[in-house]
Amino acid sequence: MDKKFFEKYEDHLDELTKVYQRDVIIEYLDKLISENKPFSFGVLDIDNFKFINDGYGHLFGDDVLREFGKALKESLEGVGVVGRYGGDEFLIVVENVVDYDVIWEIWHDLLGLSDLIDVEEIRKLNITVTIGSSRFPKDSTSIDGLFEVADKALYRGKMKGRNCFIIYLPEKHANISLKSERDKVVSSQYLHCKAMTTITSGGDLGNNIKETINFFGNYFMLDHFCIQANDSLYYEYFHSLCKKKDFKPVQNKLIELGKNSTTGLFYKNTFILGEESTKIDKICLDEGIFSSAYVEIKVHNKAFGYLRADVTENVRGRIWQSLELDILETIAHTIALELYYQQKEIKDL
Ligand code: GH3
Ligand code: MG
Repeated sequence: MDKKFFEKYEDHLDELTKVYQRDVIIEYLDKLISENKPFSFGVLDIDNFKFINDGYGHLFGDDVLREFGKALKESLEGVGVVGRYGGDEFLIVVENVVDYDVIWEIWHDLLGLSDLIDVEEIRKLNITVTIGSSRFPKDSTSIDGLFEVADKALYRGKMKGRNCFIIYLPEKHANISLKSERDKVVSSQYLHCKAMTTITSGGDLGNNIKETINFFGNYFMLDHFCIQANDSLYYEYFHSLCKKKDFKPVQNKLIELGKNSTTGLFYKNTFILGEESTKIDKICLDEGIFSSAYVEIKVHNKAFGYLRADVTENVRGRIWQSLELDILETIAHTIALELYYQQKEIKDL
């Protein structure tokens, strides 16, 4: 960190979070680029922050931002510089570090940010963050380019399940396209419709299910997505980056133990190995699965199996979003209706 540069900007702090204002960070990026000094750049966004504002009020939301600013500064002391972009987004610059493994450790430490928060009320909410990161000069030599690439990585991290960091690698992430807020709203209606129309489009039900599973597995960036029925897995989709290929069925009774009886939904953001862990937690962690969602495929009391989604890569688990779980419910119920109507079982397709 260039102490002399920051001496000029001691008063240019964001009022709420007391980290640098975004203009200071942009000026700093500009300076590093003009001097051709390598650095890593990170965009850190708090996960599901809207729920905090909605559930606890905006003033509490302000307290959360203030505490995250404090924890970030503390955590990056002597390592890098932090500023606030706006909203729940922070910008981080780590001068002189571009080695993948070194920046990996730095971003990894930041995933534990919530534990550093002094205010117990906030700490116990276990609020998570997602980080997207780019590197100069490897990824781009302009500020706009470094933002764009870090945003792509952040978007991939959010879609992958949040609570993680993604260091941009062109061979993995170059094709990601950023979606606008408007697209997201439209896509919620579009996605339910897409699920229902694909499954009920006539012709071969097996093909329709396969198409649906492939589409949503890819859309939600799931590592593994399939149907579990009669102690077998059907229509398995694997993400291109998912290394694990040998998923095994999980015993129905273990799923049933954690299932919500109204929705037929079982999900865990994080399987935990510890004193309180259940049998399913142990089995899944042994298999390298860090979070899962199961939705019962059932109609008129006739059960056909489960729609099953797994996450393997994200060691801290996936924060399942309500939209994702809603869509899983739509897919499972539509498949159940078709099977019931056609008087078939999954294994007959
Ligand atoms: P995601 O995991 O996708 O990031 O979900 P999110 O709910 O965190 O979504 P997003 O980052 O888009 O939401 C940021 C919210 O932060 C939206 C806005 O209402 C709120 N916000 C922005 N500035 C402030 C602020 O100064 N104080 C408070 N309390 N809320 C703010
Ligand atoms: Mg956010």
